[in-house]
Amino acid sequence: MTFASLGLIDPLLHTLERLDYKTPTPVQAQAIPAVLAGRDLMAAAQTGTGKTAGFALPLLHRLVSEGPPVNANSVRVLVLVPTRELAEQVHASFREYGEGLPLRTYAVYGGVSINPQMMALRKGVDVLVATPGRLLDLHRQNAVKFTQVQALVLDEADRMLDLGFANELNAVFASLPKRRQTLLFSATFSDEIRAMAAKLLDKPLSIEVSPRNTTVKSVKQWVVPVDKKRKSELFCHLLKKRRWGQVLVFVKTRKGVEQLVETLLAMKISADSIHGDKPQASRQRALDSFKAGEVKILVATDVAARGLDIDDLPQVVNFDLPIIAEDYIHRIGRTGRAGATGEAISLVCADEVNLLSAIETLTKQTLVRHEEPGFEPDHRVPMTNGAGQVLKKPKKPKVPKSSGKGVPSNWVGFDDQPAGRGRRGQARNAAAPAGRKPAAKPRGR
Ligand code: AMP
Repeated sequence: MTFASLGLIDPLLHTLERLDYKTPTPVQAQAIPAVLAGRDLMAAAQTGTGKTAGFALPLLHRLVSEGPPVNANSVRVLVLVPTRELAEQVHASFREYGEGLPLRTYAVYGGVSINPQMMALRKGVDVLVATPGRLLDLHRQNAVKFTQVQALVLDEADRMLDLGFANELNAVFASLPKRRQTLLFSATFSDEIRAMAAKLLDKPLSIEVSPRNTTVKSVKQWVVPVDKKRKSELFCHLLKKRRWGQVLVFVKTRKGVEQLVETLLAMKISADSIHGDKPQASRQRALDSFKAGEVKILVATDVAARGLDIDDLPQVVNFDLPIIAEDYIHRIGRTGRAGATGEAISLVCADEVNLLSAIETLTKQTLVRHEEPGFEPDHRVPMTNGAGQVLKKPKKPKVPKSSGKGVPSNWVGFDDQPAGRGRRGQARNAAAPAGRKPAAKPRGR
């Protein structure tokens, strides 16, 4: 299939040629014809699947081909997103795909002065990408009117609800014209999202490009059990030993983010951070330097988990597991994008076993564990069975049997190292059967 066969206008086809997009991704192949035909859409598509072009291309096509020009302070296509970073990114995609088209696009979000945004909206914009809170502020101050809105896109709808935007979203929905096209994109589909979809969408086409609540297959995922107090040390050790290039690291708290950045900087490893306490300008600077390869490690809270489109990011590290299991899917969606392969490594301490179990239940898998020699935890991480159960009492280490019987299925030990381990790992594998439990050494150091 080609983009031309989907019926997109020539200027868009030229842009796609310039961007070297040869064939539509599965979500694009389904979404583009449906959006061109004016249908509503409910798409289960994670970031990395090409979903942005899936809605931006046909909407740009329709904006150019149909309807009157935009009025002052008006908007024709409204795209709602959860975070400022995603707003900038989606806006950048619209600008890129829409280059040369006679359309105005703009992005608005909180955390920056509202006045320049009010000025920019005066002439009206064809595409407005917005976070819900700032959009409502602008609407209440009559800086933006919704009467001309012909299409609404909810991007990462699940994340907007997680971030507590339900009231703002309802207020926006109530002010929009009833006759409009609505496209809803979400990585996960909770009952709340389904209820919202039922209210907003009219006979939508359902698109599911990867099964519900699953992680991208091209991402190799594994867990390293470790004591909480040794996580920083383990991270630095793995970084060096495995010769990681750029890594995006997720940490639970803002304080934790800053502490890890300090540790890395003290070791002369270039690092920067993104979290909610930082002004938007320095968040953007950190992201830009990371994207430009000037910063090796970007440490972030979940604010940054969605929407960051960073090419060829081979490693994502969960320094702490997310409190909300769905965030695991979003976090690791930063790697293995557009067909590339990636690794997502979680450093898990005993306190986090319930979070681990929730992630395994959600993603319907048992994450492989690799204990790192020298970092075996004193507080063992109880075994999980991938079905939401934590085996309360960890089993005593067993002497390996050749059959591997009696060894928990999610244990592979450090003998079975992840890909890219080189000859040393292979030699070790040959010497010890897979399934061997390395912690058969004395505990309680
Ligand atoms: P998204 O899921 O929208 O965040 O897109 C993920 C990445 O895939 C972005 O870097 C896009 O530029 C890229 N991309 C989207 N569609 C295509 C395509 N058809 N061919 C090649 N790359 C694409």
